[in-house]
Amino acid sequence: MDNILEIKDLVVRYETEDGLVKAVNSVNLALKQGASVGLVGETGAGKTTLAKSVMRLIQWPPGRIISGEILFEGKDLVSLTQEQMYNIRGKEISMIFQDPMTALNPVMTVGKQIAEVIGVHEAHLDEEGTKKKMEEMLQMVGIDPQRAEEYPHQFSGGMKQRVVIAIALACNPKLLIADEPTTALDVTIQAQVLELIRNLRDKLGTSLLLITHDLGVVAQNCEYVAIMYAGEIVEYGELRDVFHRGAHPYTKGLFDSIPKLTEKVDRLRPIEGMMPDPANLPEGCKFHPRCQYATPECGQVQPPEVDLGGGHIVRCMRYSGGKPIQSGE
Ligand code: SF4
Repeated sequence: MDNILEIKDLVVRYETEDGLVKAVNSVNLALKQGASVGLVGETGAGKTTLAKSVMRLIQWPPGRIISGEILFEGKDLVSLTQEQMYNIRGKEISMIFQDPMTALNPVMTVGKQIAEVIGVHEAHLDEEGTKKKMEEMLQMVGIDPQRAEEYPHQFSGGMKQRVVIAIALACNPKLLIADEPTTALDVTIQAQVLELIRNLRDKLGTSLLLITHDLGVVAQNCEYVAIMYAGEIVEYGELRDVFHRGAHPYTKGLFDSIPKLTEKVDRLRPIEGMMPDPANLPEGCKFHPRCQYATPECGQVQPPEVDLGGGHIVRCMRYSGGKPIQSGE
């Protein structure tokens, strides 16, 4: 299966008054056609910057893609002009943001907002055709097309996010990036919205990059997982490999810090310490100040990416030639 998206050695920086923020550091990530990847990490790990880089929405000043490639169907998005990106955003790649209210125009009816996107990218449709497509999209996300004339404030949070999804999928994009799409919603509504995205993906064959801090959301919605820490992908692989054979100490820490239904534990084990300030990252492995396995070498040398087999990649000194080189699990 071909990769629809391939990010190679991507570096993104923000120049701020507090110093140079190293938001994304030599990230490699591939997404197969029609597949879904969950990008997991704490707040400030660089997940949203990575997603915005793919959309070419990093604004200068203060942010800039310094180096690397973002290949979408083999075409490097980094080298495109904003005008060329205009034809890709919304039509080929769409993004759903965390808060539906910031994505919707409060003074325009929802029908008009969906029709506007269809009008931009499907210029061959006449007014009647655009209206028909808009109504189909509303129906597809479970909203009565009769509500097309209503404004965003007349919808609940979950319904607003459905409208955002309708806008994002209106032109049948090949890749959907969903950045914490349910975090602002109630738990029961979260499940509905995720199920909706799942069903629509099955129907339309859309590839998905799902950004979340919730491993449960990834387990239910993704085939692949990328774990991000301090601007780097520290582990990547198929869901079952990362969930059952998580190799990076940070990945293990994430799993230890969530409750398990099958095990009785008196206390959860949070990962000690804080993620480093991206304006002041440690040398070597960025996780070494928090890692129980850290050696002096970890604080000096950047760990290479090691393939543990079947595309299960880990960035840690403990692995060499695909095997652990130290004991002490
Ligand atoms: Fe820990 Fe060293 Fe691996 Fe970093 S490279 S995660 S410090 S063992």
